[in-house]
Amino acid sequence: MAVITEDLVRDEIHRWLADNWDPDSTVAEWWDRLCDSGWAMPTWPEEWFGRGLPRELAGVVNAELRSAGAIGPPSGLGALLAGPTILVHGTDEQRARYLQPIVNGQEAWCQLFSEPGAGSDLASLQCRAERDGDEWIVNGQKVWTSGAQTADLGMLVARTDTDVPKHKGITYFAIEMDQPGVEVRPLREMTGRSLFSEVFFSDARVHQSAIIGELNGGWAVANTTLANERAGLGSGGSGAVGGAMPGKKAGQLERRVGDLAGGRGRDRAERAVAGRQSSLLEKLAKDVGRDQDANVRQHLAELHILNEIGRITALRVKAAKASGRGPGPEANTAKLLMSQITRLSRDLGLEILGPNGMIMGPETPGGGVAQELALFAPAVSIYGGSDEVQKNIIGERVLGLPKEPDSDRMKTLPFRELKVGTQRAAG
Ligand SMILES: Cc1cc2nc3c(=O)[nH]c(=O)nc-3n(C[C@H](O)[C@H](O)[C@H](O)COP(=O)(O)OP(=O)(O)OC[C@H]3O[C@@H](n4cnc5c(N)ncnc54)[C@H](O)[C@@H]3O)c2cc1C
Repeated sequence: MAVITEDLVRDEIHRWLADNWDPDSTVAEWWDRLCDSGWAMPTWPEEWFGRGLPRELAGVVNAELRSAGAIGPPSGLGALLAGPTILVHGTDEQRARYLQPIVNGQEAWCQLFSEPGAGSDLASLQCRAERDGDEWIVNGQKVWTSGAQTADLGMLVARTDTDVPKHKGITYFAIEMDQPGVEVRPLREMTGRSLFSEVFFSDARVHQSAIIGELNGGWAVANTTLANERAGLGSGGSGAVGGAMPGKKAGQLERRVGDLAGGRGRDRAERAVAGRQSSLLEKLAKDVGRDQDANVRQHLAELHILNEIGRITALRVKAAKASGRGPGPEANTAKLLMSQITRLSRDLGLEILGPNGMIMGPETPGGGVAQELALFAPAVSIYGGSDEVQKNIIGERVLGLPKEPDSDRMKTLPFRELKVGTQRAAG
């Protein structure tokens, strides 16, 4: 069997792109082609729309896509979270049903995990699913659901048994969002955007065949999703970064793909996250004549160093995954580092802009990216597990420090006996 080397992969994707990248096709046509070729998700197994490549070679594919000026595979939570979770825990029927529309961008997903009383302590969730023949009836509320407005499907965790300890009575469903019992209410953020929503379930229905993993075994499935989330966010993603947004409701599938290449399809949130890169702030400093300022230069150097540490930590996360260890403590430190980089970028952007940092809009210096980042910055230390929770995990699982008081008792009491919403154990 031929050994797969970086050069072989680079040559093959290079030739494939020369024959197939066509900026005049629609986004949907381009993603179909990318999906059929296996280059969209090169690390996924060959029988499931991938090429079975080792993780460290995926970067070569991305680099070639970028240098050809092509857009990458669909961004969003389907590719980042739902797909990898279904690959691990789904049945072959479920893989056949859900994976292709993720890879060719026809269906978008959202993550229905957090609730008003269950964020860091996710296992305290109260949204319920009750069996009704071949279906389950869902009632409850989710919150902070990114992309719910454009999602076709949701990764739903719901309580299906209250007589067992809280981690043991949770089931993971793939629920259809377009149905009468699902109401999506967008929340307005201080950036002015509505990135996430509240989602209310009132007798919504989900079929038995849409349970991913075991009935009442959803905690293990959710942890696969969360591990992928931490690894993705720690390596610099926002959960939304990519070439274009999947799903019919996002309205990009029928657009000319060349018009979205080079990041032109990015929304303001994505541009804000990209603003963490030191090169973007270096350019801003030059544009406004602050690049000779000693403080600005020192902070730019600091940002460059932190980004390099982030890049190397992301390589460690990939290496850990490739060796079969799965994302470990590197993913937690990477996520913490991303919060630190974002805070420094926020402060530096505003330092460079001076009083101009108080005004927003595309006509302001740097196109408003630094100001957007400043308003978006708090989100990074919250989503995907807050900084404090990452520190708890590092304390307990890496440094071997004692667990939080009461956490063992909470794991053994039946859910119905817990005073949910008043305790805050680490999730
Ligand atoms: C931009 C953004 C997008 C999001 N998208 C989604 C999404 O798509 N789907 C989804 O399900 N959720 C999403 N979330 C929700 C996110 O996962 C939760 O906000 C996060 O897990 C924290 O939960 P919480 O907001 O309930 O805060 P809480 O858990 O109530 O925490 C409040 C504060 O207490 C601290 N704290 C909590 N427990 C402990 C502890 N044990 N030790 C020390 N400190 C503690 C926290 O660090 C935090 O500072 C998103 C959040 C943001 C900001």
